[in-house]
Amino acid sequence: MTQPFTFESAIPRIVFGIGSISKVSEELGRLGRGRALVLSTPHQENDAQALASALGELAVGVFNRAVMHTPVDVTTEALSMFNGSGADCIVSLGGGSTIGLGKAIALRNNAPQLVVATTYAGSEVTPILGETENGIKTTIRTSSVLPKTVIYDPELTFGLPVPMSVTSGLNAMAHAVEGLYAQDRNPIASLMAMEGLAALRKALPAIVNLPRDPLARTDALYGSWLCGVVLGAVGMSLHHKLCHTLGGTFDLPHAETHAILLPHTVSYIEQAVPELLAPVARLFGAPRAGTGLHDFALSIGAPMRLRDLGVTGDDLDRATALAVSHPYWSPRPLEAGGIRALLQNAWQGVRPHLR
Ligand code: NAD
Repeated sequence: MTQPFTFESAIPRIVFGIGSISKVSEELGRLGRGRALVLSTPHQENDAQALASALGELAVGVFNRAVMHTPVDVTTEALSMFNGSGADCIVSLGGGSTIGLGKAIALRNNAPQLVVATTYAGSEVTPILGETENGIKTTIRTSSVLPKTVIYDPELTFGLPVPMSVTSGLNAMAHAVEGLYAQDRNPIASLMAMEGLAALRKALPAIVNLPRDPLARTDALYGSWLCGVVLGAVGMSLHHKLCHTLGGTFDLPHAETHAILLPHTVSYIEQAVPELLAPVARLFGAPRAGTGLHDFALSIGAPMRLRDLGVTGDDLDRATALAVSHPYWSPRPLEAGGIRALLQNAWQGVRPHLR
């Protein structure tokens, strides 16, 4: 029986397809803007410069110093360039780090953002921004940071290194899986979650085999879009909170942490709500979603062990205490013993087992 639900949609305009990067100027026109500051990380500076050149006088400059976790001092620098150049909009070319910088600028000056997304993290379709100041990361949810237009050109992901494609893809899958058991889950978000998971389940092994496979890259970007919409549409729970806590406390890389923890957090939750995760188990042809995800991650060469990220065995008690110290809604209540066992399994990289 369909349970009572609330559904609200706030999805940016999406332009999807190989070659769609050529539509940036047309899309800026639709937004009524003509002086774009292009953002990138240092690593993607060449692509950002090429885009700025292609835009001609529609681009007023490139700010290439976006970094992970959106530090406020970098935002301040970028804002000063935005103001100094007379820009009237932002074009972010990159993954979650670059998009985060664009959102942080928009939060402060309401500039419209056009995003050219090049990873599977999904930030481009969420009203969520995490910023770091004095070592503390604060996350807010406000429609004022939601980009106006997103361009997905699979060709820009052909060079996304395979290890990053794998972890970023699993990061996207984590949004979808948590959407299935969210407190405010709804039929549309769940449909998108399963469609996104199916697309990534098909695409990631194909990318591992042939990184420049246009079909697989297209499927992966399509799946990550859907998973990102789920992240923006419903509330996340144990998995995202645990990744956030561990990532912040032990300074862990974002996508890898998601990839390692996902089978274990899902196994923990699955014991309380197996029926909500049964479609995921079926998708992987596994008896349970957690083990299905574990075997899938292993098969595509994902990192499997928290210890490989520099977390020590002694850190696990502290991580457990932190994880249970700020209670939040979860389909299975947070129990220190269960969380400690989950972390132990993730630390060793073993197949999740019941506890
Ligand atoms: P990223 O943006 O940090 O990118 C990692 C590296 O890969 C960078 O050097 C980048 O330039 C490079 N790169 C990106 N795309 C590439 C491509 N196609 N080819 C070659 N190199 C490429 O990685 P990410 O995982 O996308 O983002 C992580 C950040 O995003 C974290 O700070 C995380 O908290 C945030 N995030 C936010 C949300 C949200 O909704 N607010 C969602 C997901 C992630």
